[in-house]
Amino acid sequence: MLPVQTPSLNSTPETLERPACPLCDSEERRESIFEFPPYAVARCKSCGLWYLCPRLTESLMHASYEDDHYFEGGEGGYSSYQAQETTLRPTFRRFLREIARRGMTGGKLLEVGCAYGFFLEEAKDYFSHRTGTDYSSGALEKAHGRADRLILGGTEQIPLGETFDCVACVHVIEHIYDPVAFLRSLTKHLRPGGWLLLATPDMGGFWRPLMRRRWPFFKIPEHVTYFDQKTLGALLTRAGLDAVQPLPYSSAFSLELIGEKLGRQLPGAWRDQPIRSDHWRDRCSRSRRGSR
Ligand SMILES: [Zn+2]
Repeated sequence: MLPVQTPSLNSTPETLERPACPLCDSEERRESIFEFPPYAVARCKSCGLWYLCPRLTESLMHASYEDDHYFEGGEGGYSSYQAQETTLRPTFRRFLREIARRGMTGGKLLEVGCAYGFFLEEAKDYFSHRTGTDYSSGALEKAHGRADRLILGGTEQIPLGETFDCVACVHVIEHIYDPVAFLRSLTKHLRPGGWLLLATPDMGGFWRPLMRRRWPFFKIPEHVTYFDQKTLGALLTRAGLDAVQPLPYSSAFSLELIGEKLGRQLPGAWRDQPIRSDHWRDRCSRSRRGSR
């Protein structure tokens, strides 16, 4: 068995916590289904959500997101976010075409957790205004010029009362410690009838049971929740959104990432080759803020 990389982020017994289910607050769970010592993935016996328990305390995890090394070679985070540009951009272009076909584009877009701004830049022709937020000032420097406005921090930095026609969270919700409260705060910035888009790795997808603990989205300790279609829908409903519908969202992956997971170095020419397969499908849902 090859070792699976588990960044410690200097965990000690004092920096670990054992949360209740982040979706339904139940304390009843099947413990340690997948172990990544000192962390483990548990499953709620009440709602079926998979979540990290024990997990790192939120303040320590946050400090890592604000660190400029998070995106390029830090402990945890991405070995290189920049290197994924060649696979992220085609994924985003395909997704934007998909939502345009459904009449969900136009007006003002907010992207929460925009990283280097690849999605915001690709969205230029689809929205009249694009705002992005991120906790990393280094990431926002890279995103400079790729959006109409960039805000350092989280949703609390968006002026009260400002609303958007579309709010997108791509691979963000799995990092959030209290996803219900997070979505409720986002909903305040969604105009009545506007769309919220959530894309997250699909715990109910094709590869996850085959790859078991080598599944690439067990990014420990950053990914604290793991949704499937049922739990993602339950989350959106619990946050007060309605008209929850699944959306197709197929990711392109580089062979290098897969090589990394298998602990193999691939020949240089192969590394950046994107693989596109409908099997690598994330779970994405759209839901609407009621007009009440
Ligand atoms: Zn639960």
